[in-house]
Amino acid sequence: MTDNDFAVRVRGLVKRYPDKVAVAGVDLDIHHGEVFALLGPNGAGKTTTLRAVCGMVRTAGRVAFRGRDLTGLATEKIARLGIAHVPEGRGTFGGLTVAENLRLGAYGRKDGVQQDLDFWYGTFPRLAERREQPAGSLSGGEQQMLAVARALMCRPALLLLDEPSLGLAPMVVREVFAVLREIRAGQGTGMLVVEQNAALALELADTAHVLEAGRTVLAGPAAEIRAEDSVRRAYLGS
Ligand code: ATP
Repeated sequence: MTDNDFAVRVRGLVKRYPDKVAVAGVDLDIHHGEVFALLGPNGAGKTTTLRAVCGMVRTAGRVAFRGRDLTGLATEKIARLGIAHVPEGRGTFGGLTVAENLRLGAYGRKDGVQQDLDFWYGTFPRLAERREQPAGSLSGGEQQMLAVARALMCRPALLLLDEPSLGLAPMVVREVFAVLREIRAGQGTGMLVVEQNAALALELADTAHVLEAGRTVLAGPAAEIRAEDSVRRAYLGS
């Protein structure tokens, strides 16, 4: 298998901070169109790994996207190659309207922007109803939907989602994950998801890795990870 056979291939990822090794040699193989979940306790290195894929964190080791080495590329360049990032805390512009936020997601693209807007308003009817409202006035769940829709406006091949459930009520979390499943089924968009809610992440994912102290301690198909006793005890509460 070569890098071209994968959406993302990570080899020997290491991130050292002065007082801490955040990631201590992580390898990932993410297939085209698959949903890949990174699980693990606080401080395990999940967010750092995700940020390395979109160039937000400089690391040792190698990250390739569809066969292309991303080493040294700026985040904007990586975004243009087809990786969209939905950061923890969402990163929408509160003073801009929903529609303005979504148009920003199209990244200066002129063609097909209105069609894409109409399409995503169809998927996210609550955003359609609130299109002229400032993003800052939306509920937490609506802001998360907006962050996802904005990322999709750049037609990514891969969506990076950092804790999409964070701070949301359980019912809203289920709604967000239902939309992610819909997007995955409809668009075939690949996803790398960092998530504390292991049960939901494992329902959505094809493959999962469990990180602890910067290393992968468990890797495999999501169904197998879900059945692991250690995962059930630590993350699934059963
Ligand atoms: P969480 O689930 O709590 O978000 P995580 O698994 O995503 O955790 P990371 O955010 O990747 O973990 O952090 C891994 C470790 O690296 C943590 O101990 C964190 O404190 C440390 N770390 C992350 N960023 C920095 C930084 N900029 N400077 C120093 N240490 C950092």
